[in-house]
Amino acid sequence: MNEDRWEFVKIFITSLIAVVVVLSSYLYRSKLYISKLEYSLSLAQANIQELRNLEKINNKQKIEIDRLNDETEKLKSKIEDLENLSRQVQALAEKALKVDLSYKRSQRKYSSRGGNVSLEEIHERIDKLDSTIEIQKDNLSQVKSQLEILYEWKYSVPSGKPVLGPINSGFGYRRRSFHTGVDIRSGIGTPVKATANGIVSYAGWKGGYGLTIIIRHNFGFSTLYAHLSKISVSVGKRVERGDIIGHTGMTGYTTGPHLHYEIRVNDRPVDPKDYL
Ligand SMILES: [Zn+2]
Repeated sequence: MNEDRWEFVKIFITSLIAVVVVLSSYLYRSKLYISKLEYSLSLAQANIQELRNLEKINNKQKIEIDRLNDETEKLKSKIEDLENLSRQVQALAEKALKVDLSYKRSQRKYSSRGGNVSLEEIHERIDKLDSTIEIQKDNLSQVKSQLEILYEWKYSVPSGKPVLGPINSGFGYRRRSFHTGVDIRSGIGTPVKATANGIVSYAGWKGGYGLTIIIRHNFGFSTLYAHLSKISVSVGKRVERGDIIGHTGMTGYTTGPHLHYEIRVNDRPVDPKDYL
């Protein structure tokens, strides 16, 4: 794997974590703010009740209060949606990055200031909060789709050895031919595991390769497993990293039992050593 690309992925991951943490704290503050609004509204409602008791019911104000109540309810459900999205993003981030993003929320109590908040003021605050929520939702959706790509990348890039064992022969020129993969020594009948998630695109005899499996992964990767004694998957099957797809053998052109393993990027063989 290219050093620069890893560096980029690392920086990318770090910025994602920062964005998720910042967004989560915004969300928490929004929730506090909604609680404050609810408190103000309840005070306003108490005032209305008082007015009613004095038989000076201001119908217009009552309608206004009801309307504000409705708006608050709507805001509450929007915040709930946002929280769900945030939880999804957090879970995805934890899965994709294998980091724990849960942070301790301060149990800080907000001061229940209020009483003389005008309805206009409450309206203004609700409008402001509403637009803030929309922006946060957009941000979170963006982070979510980025994380989905990252998650996909993590399980699509071949990683690890398909069988345990020493490498007998490396990638590159040897004598007069170019070796397009690595040979991993292993006794006949050893289970061979897929090194990334993907779909089986070839399963059968392939000339000098003998019994061969090719798996197509996302982002242009494919892996090839050759000289097998047994194939346990068929073309079109979806496999995950670690699934047993067949067993080692010495079919095709080979001088001893080993697994010939290739990684290709856009159908061009690359050195598997960088991915083991
Ligand atoms: Zn080989």
